[in-house]
Amino acid sequence: MSKYTYVCCNCKKHFFDEGVKYLCPDCSASNNPSLPPKGVLKVIYNYQDIKKRYFHENRLFESLHTNRYIDLLPIKSPDSLSPLRTGHTPLYSFFSKKLNDTFEEFNVFFKDDSRNPTFSLKDRASDLVSAFAKENGISTIIAASTGNAGSSIAGICASQGQKAIVMVPAKAPIAKLLQIMHYGAQIIPVDGTYDDAFELSLKASEKFGFYNRNTAYNPLTIEGKKTVAFEIFADLNKILPDLIFVSVGDGVIISGLYKGFEDLLQLGIIDRIPTIVAVQSDKSKNLIANMDNDSFILYPSSTVADSISVDVPRNFYMAKHFIKEYSGKCILVSDEEIIKASSELSNKTGIFSEPAASAAYAGFIKYINKDIIKKNQNVVILLTGSGLKDLKNVERLHEMPEAVVPDINAINNIF
Ligand SMILES: *Cc1c(COP(=O)(O)O)cnc(C)c1O
Repeated sequence: MSKYTYVCCNCKKHFFDEGVKYLCPDCSASNNPSLPPKGVLKVIYNYQDIKKRYFHENRLFESLHTNRYIDLLPIKSPDSLSPLRTGHTPLYSFFSKKLNDTFEEFNVFFKDDSRNPTFSLKDRASDLVSAFAKENGISTIIAASTGNAGSSIAGICASQGQKAIVMVPAKAPIAKLLQIMHYGAQIIPVDGTYDDAFELSLKASEKFGFYNRNTAYNPLTIEGKKTVAFEIFADLNKILPDLIFVSVGDGVIISGLYKGFEDLLQLGIIDRIPTIVAVQSDKSKNLIANMDNDSFILYPSSTVADSISVDVPRNFYMAKHFIKEYSGKCILVSDEEIIKASSELSNKTGIFSEPAASAAYAGFIKYINKDIIKKNQNVVILLTGSGLKDLKNVERLHEMPEAVVPDINAINNIF
């Protein structure tokens, strides 16, 4: 019996696990690059079989955790994963009043996924894709990226002795571009948008046979990102949070979160899914703006938060389905609110996040102003990438004081 199968989000057809799989061949045949793709695949496991296997243990979640969740990953062995430490990122606890004394009394937890090997949550997906490649004798992986997925696959591939090819918009933040090159990946800057790079990389995979890590196109990206849900549950000692705020671009991180909790629901470990709040910039709002539309309307994106600047959300249908099914919420924030939230977050917590990650905090602030969070509730804010990846947006906020001569009398008037 195979460990897992794929199910098409659109037609619900099942596919077996042999070899590389991308989109559902039937549903993707008529895909148009200017619309969200149909036919993204979801990985499902034989949940009854897992329960049976751990039948004599009443601590099912602990056993799964001890085994590095291998029963819920589409690879054979955890040893195929990168030797770098992916995931196991800290969950920091802050009392709401410490962040802002006008808040109700509740608990705020920051899951700091900038503490991954290449400083973003993307490593969770790259690590799984790379492990799958290793188990299947594939040595070259290509990806299109706004920057983080590219630096992530570059770093993870370096750790595994694999070759990475990364297509990025030439205008991506310089730190991300340098990071990709420094890990030794082959970088292909594309004179165009992320969406242009995405399409080009699909054609390159087809023509040259490279294994493709593109987000959502490769279903393992969703599976990799779901481990953050398992960790949040474990970090909170098996208490489900009431609310989770997450920034959204292509809609893979949010789907991963849902998928992780859904796996736990299928296993009877939890009995509900937390309320997840999707946050987008109002300058890149195509997932939220189209939630209730019958046909997709494209609003061109131009947000300063480059990691969530996406014209065509690649996992639109799956994310929409999850949000509807589990009564998730959506919130739009302005770029000004994102930048302000980024400063506030650093000032109040000591965590330095890139704008796309700070967007989740901006959404939380805005949500509090609209909808009261109740006393003693547990709120998780998922911080997806490091502030050092994009200094341009920070640079313009600060003015460097003039240098002083190193003489105690010269600083008399400063304090
Ligand atoms: C990729 C990314 C996101 C958005 O994730 P999606 O899966 O595209 O929705 C958010 N923040 C950071 C830092 C990212 O790199």
